[in-house]
Amino acid sequence: MCGIIGISSSKPVVNNIISSLKKLEYRGYDSAGIATFSDKFIDEVKCEGRVGKLEKIVSKKSLKGIVGIGHVRWATHGVPNEINAHPHSSDRVSVVHNGIIENSTILKKILEKKGYQFKSQTDTEVITILLTENLKNNKLLVAVQKTLEKLHGSYALAILCKDNPDLIVGARRGSPLAVGYGHNENYLGSDSYALKSMTNKISYLDDGDICILKKDSAEFYNSKGKKINKKILTMSETEDNYDKGDFKTFMQKEIFEQPNSVKSCINEYVDHLRDDINIYNFPWDITKIDSVVLIGCGTAYHACMVAKYWIEELTSLEVAIDIASEFRYKRNKFKNNCIYIFVSQSGETADTFAALELCKKNKMKTLSVVNVVESSIARNSNFVLPIHCGAEICVASTKAFLGQMLVLYVLILKISSLRGDIKKKDYEAKIKLLKKLPEAIRNTLSTESEMEEISDIFSEAKGSMFLGRGYSYPIAMEGALKLKELCYVHAEGYPAGEMKHGPLALIESGMPVVIIAPRDKYYEKTLSNMQEVIARGAKVLFISNKSKDEISSDNVWKKIEVEKTSDELLPFLLTIPLQLLAFYAAKNKGYDIDKPRNLAKSVTVE
Ligand code: GLU
Repeated sequence: MCGIIGISSSKPVVNNIISSLKKLEYRGYDSAGIATFSDKFIDEVKCEGRVGKLEKIVSKKSLKGIVGIGHVRWATHGVPNEINAHPHSSDRVSVVHNGIIENSTILKKILEKKGYQFKSQTDTEVITILLTENLKNNKLLVAVQKTLEKLHGSYALAILCKDNPDLIVGARRGSPLAVGYGHNENYLGSDSYALKSMTNKISYLDDGDICILKKDSAEFYNSKGKKINKKILTMSETEDNYDKGDFKTFMQKEIFEQPNSVKSCINEYVDHLRDDINIYNFPWDITKIDSVVLIGCGTAYHACMVAKYWIEELTSLEVAIDIASEFRYKRNKFKNNCIYIFVSQSGETADTFAALELCKKNKMKTLSVVNVVESSIARNSNFVLPIHCGAEICVASTKAFLGQMLVLYVLILKISSLRGDIKKKDYEAKIKLLKKLPEAIRNTLSTESEMEEISDIFSEAKGSMFLGRGYSYPIAMEGALKLKELCYVHAEGYPAGEMKHGPLALIESGMPVVIIAPRDKYYEKTLSNMQEVIARGAKVLFISNKSKDEISSDNVWKKIEVEKTSDELLPFLLTIPLQLLAFYAAKNKGYDIDKPRNLAKSVTVE
């Protein structure tokens, strides 16, 4: 979601700002803009649409500034158009913002009464005008502090000020912001990826921090205005792969990377020689824990749902799951002997981060499962388990979902063994089977051509249903989510047994319904539910796992079989054809698969 870049240098910054914005493109956005200083003027260029378009416009102008800011916007207030694109500038300052100012309407009214006029519909412009007003009677730092004090909501900010042409002001509350250190230039970025090609030396702003960035210095202040020092971290040298290789989209590439991404995750957590899981140094005595709460949003929440079934199956722990945006505002009964687990690909998901902060405030035990180890969620948790799947660029998550499930699975197995909930022999057998998972995923990818063939029915459908029981219920939810995200087709993910309590009324002749029914303990029950939808005219795509017994396929439209594995590991395999289905359904329609409309990758607003 929205990205920020700022560079203070001794040479023109425009090209580096554009290339950093390109790196931020994966986050999902609808418009872009840039502002640089030259000869006491702030040059500003912005447009609706992609960074490529901004680059073309910029190339026709001569932006020579050595200090500048850039932004990709994901609109929250006001339509995506050129006027609403950031930066928002006055005669004194130019501002780019990530987040939401919740009291912008009230502030706007107050400022309008003072005679200020607003050009855009955004909440951000309130920051520009308020700061301009505060600069009348205050020095820069005080003016910034007074401005921030008045804001409710979340922000990461990069600000250029006409009276201080050599610096950029950065500030954060709720939305991430990092400072990068270079040779005779310094950077601001909303994530470390954006800065990676320029530096591997990074500091992170904490909530309430302000920084003043010049080409040769970076000063930090906390919310009380006290000067503070920041740790400088060195990022790993490994360049993440932003290349599509032989694939036309990142999504397809990421789907096909899954045998390898799962393998590298297994290599990180599973002992090569012994059948054991290498998760040590828990900051708590696991035998004293009595419950677990898992929290996430979207696809990560579906990983939590699967994990809930595993915890119930494999441990004596109590378990609850929650959607982060609900958890953060409700009255939770915090428990000392509970581990609160936060799942987020980016590690910057605003709602999940807020839920984590709430747990921290209540002194709870926190553990995070993230892809980005430098992220806010990772940095603020007591214990971090990375999913090691490499950068995921497509907005719709695929390999990160498998990575999240995998890390949760090994974590649960380890906890179960430490608590003595599982017999050693069963524990080892499960790990042996886990080692074979990458191969089973690779073989399941061969369903691609069948899924491509089937996909047009889903592309053209008015609506569709995805049904499953047990582990297959969250997988049905995930399959439906993928189709909604990518193909903009209404899709319901539902527990198969619940159909008769309402959704069955939606079934009409020709409606595509995906039945996920592996040969587990729910198999026969799900088959009955399948017959109920067939009887009402549904066109059933039946997904199961290979077995020596024939699938009972009366009146089934299409059958797909994934590889054999244990019931517990089936969620990994059953997900694959559903990812491919959504991919091809969107491709048939010619949609922008990697950047679906209205969506963003790193959801940094609540
Ligand atoms: N709320 C601001 C806007 O709508 C910033 C959105 C963003 O984070 O990109 O312009």
